Amino acid sequence: MSKKDYYELLGVGRNATEQELKSAYKRLAIRYHPDKNPGDPAAEETFKEVAEAYGVLSNAEQRARYDRFGHAGVSGSAGAGNWGAQGFGGIEDILGDLFGFGDVFGGRSGGGGGGRRSGGQRGADLRYDLEITLEESAAGMTAQLRIPRLETCDTCTGSGAKSGTQAETCTTCSGAGQVRYQQGFFSVARTCGACRGTGRIIKTPCETCKGAGRTERERELEIKVPAGVETGSRLRITGEGEGGASGGGAGDLYVVLHVKEHEGFERQGSNLYAAVPVTFAQAALGSDIMVKTLNGEQPLKIPAGTQTGTVFRLKGQGMPVLGGRGNGDLFVSVALRTPTTLTRDQRRLLEELSKIEDRDLEDKGLIDRVRDIFG
Ligand SMILES: [Zn+2]
Ligand SMILES: [Zn+2]
Repeated sequence: MSKKDYYELLGVGRNATEQELKSAYKRLAIRYHPDKNPGDPAAEETFKEVAEAYGVLSNAEQRARYDRFGHAGVSGSAGAGNWGAQGFGGIEDILGDLFGFGDVFGGRSGGGGGGRRSGGQRGADLRYDLEITLEESAAGMTAQLRIPRLETCDTCTGSGAKSGTQAETCTTCSGAGQVRYQQGFFSVARTCGACRGTGRIIKTPCETCKGAGRTERERELEIKVPAGVETGSRLRITGEGEGGASGGGAGDLYVVLHVKEHEGFERQGSNLYAAVPVTFAQAALGSDIMVKTLNGEQPLKIPAGTQTGTVFRLKGQGMPVLGGRGNGDLFVSVALRTPTTLTRDQRRLLEELSKIEDRDLEDKGLIDRVRDIFG
């Protein structure tokens, strides 16, 4: 069966304005709405066709495609070509945009509520928390993620109906997804129990997804973690969230990073901080020592008379800056290490040293010594 021309369906010229399209559709939608024509499949068919035509022509991009390529240009896009899958999905939204749907047909409050549907529901965004080490953050890495998620069913491409069959319009609610009850002056809308608000009934469900249109699957995904990420950095992977329903697009995947604490380094932005132990002799006499960095070891010259707590800066030995613009620095704080055990020789030498130091300190006033300690 060849499809009818969208402009002809709406009874407008090919250069109709947006406003002309809108009022043409509004007029036809009211005339052919299933609620106004119960048990009239021809009216229902026209209603669907008209809604489809308006769905395409009211979208500037799709209209341009339709003008150039005809039905082939817009098949599969929202509002066209996949009514079997969508049922009445989308129509209420289009109508809702035009005028308060409830105002015209009564009883239905515009928007909200469980009965409101939109054809092609976008899949949910997913969050994945990934813990990595400081070394991995410094070098960048690829990570293998296993993500359990709902994906659009391959067998029925999300329609929920067995191949060769189509979802049918729910006869209880005529596809509206809601049933109204008159109670005195009020009419109360309730989600249709027969179709659970979807407006369509799947007579022969797809065997793979049991009619849900989506299946749960554990998907293995390889992602690139760039060098320099920090705890709280988010990577967005477009289209790797949950699959959409009834032809809706997939959501996105957000990978939230957590960088583990490192026992040797503390991190602040792209700078690293570490403590390096030195002996009293090394600090007093000066020394060349080796300092652990993320990439191995680096030599560091400790000048004679270095005090405990003195900080040295090793340029470029910090973390890479996210986005590939150089590196931070490594700040090394000297920590004087007091020996807990002494050999006989060490004890003898230290005792001798101590005698000289006692004389040095006695030369100073008591207050100065207190200042030396707490200053
Ligand atoms: Zn129903
Ligand atoms: Zn399926």
